[in-house]
Amino acid sequence: MQIPKFIGHEIFRHSTYGRWHPLRVPRVSTVMDLSRALGWLPPTQFITSPRAKPAALQHWHSPRYIAALQRIEASQSVTRQDRDLHDIGSVTNPVFPEIFRRPATAAGGSILAGELLQEGGVIYNPAGGTHHGMPDRANGFCYLNDPVLAMLSLRHHGVRRIAYVDIDAHHPDGVEVGFGGDPDCLMISVHEARLWPRTGNIENDAGGNAYNLPVPRGLNDSEMTCIRDELILPKVAAFRPDAIVLLCGADGLEEDPLSHMALSNNAQLDVLRGLMGMAPRLLVLGGGGYNPWSVGRLWAQVWGVLNGWDGPEVLPDAAQTVLRSLRFDGNRRGKNPPEHWFTTLRDAAREGDVRDEVKDAVRALLRRKMR
Ligand SMILES: [Zn+2]
Repeated sequence: MQIPKFIGHEIFRHSTYGRWHPLRVPRVSTVMDLSRALGWLPPTQFITSPRAKPAALQHWHSPRYIAALQRIEASQSVTRQDRDLHDIGSVTNPVFPEIFRRPATAAGGSILAGELLQEGGVIYNPAGGTHHGMPDRANGFCYLNDPVLAMLSLRHHGVRRIAYVDIDAHHPDGVEVGFGGDPDCLMISVHEARLWPRTGNIENDAGGNAYNLPVPRGLNDSEMTCIRDELILPKVAAFRPDAIVLLCGADGLEEDPLSHMALSNNAQLDVLRGLMGMAPRLLVLGGGGYNPWSVGRLWAQVWGVLNGWDGPEVLPDAAQTVLRSLRFDGNRRGKNPPEHWFTTLRDAAREGDVRDEVKDAVRALLRRKMR
């Protein structure tokens, strides 16, 4: 068994979608810096992400869209047609300096992961997880769809049965476009009900291969444990996948500004722990997450868990320095961050009652026959 590999890149350190966009905060660089500060990222485990070539992206995205992204990056301007056809230049999907290179680097990492996992193993690409991207247009901060490209890459390298598990606060509408109706792909998504993009209601099975579980606001750790133990793990086990792709968004955590769930980072990590070892190949992607501290603390721990390392109770100074240097301008959560956002990785558990609506929704999905 090979040791887990971390795919990263420096492009993510200074790239921003603009001063007021939720993706103005650093994320991947925080994970890399924290991991290095903890001695968790030796060169033997780090891979610099390649940038995907247009030809590789065109396995799912349209050539005219890829060409538009490259042209817009060069000119830093959009035409009326770019807005109308590709939804670029909106508040959500703005023009920014690395508008092609940044998503192409995240996608290049995910495509490479599909290739490297041919022989089995564990790969972490925290820059990946852009699950809203559509074949011909940007969608929900996502210009490309690297989870789809990762799964196509796995398929290209002979890996057939893929379980895609998505615990981001938002429904993966783009991935559903890519793999809906594919009997060799099992898709499970847990996402906040009635949150953008408002797809993924419980009746929607994406053509027969998806379990969509919308959850109420305030979802707590106990509820996520119930969902994990009764839905996610049994369904993945029964599917007997050749590979698992886990999208581990950090926007379901309580401190996130874009959702209303109330998970601690233990909940996401417990889903990861449960899935480890259930298939010979595991790819973990990032996803959403818009509070720089909760993203960094969760995603660094993801890398620790993949390696079997527990973080220290109290972080060493070098790691605290990484967290203390983060800024969250324009958000009240950035004004007086609690001390434990600097000194620890692990949240206190946020347990609570498992509400009937959560139990009922899980049961409804368990009763359903897949086509
Ligand atoms: Zn999200």
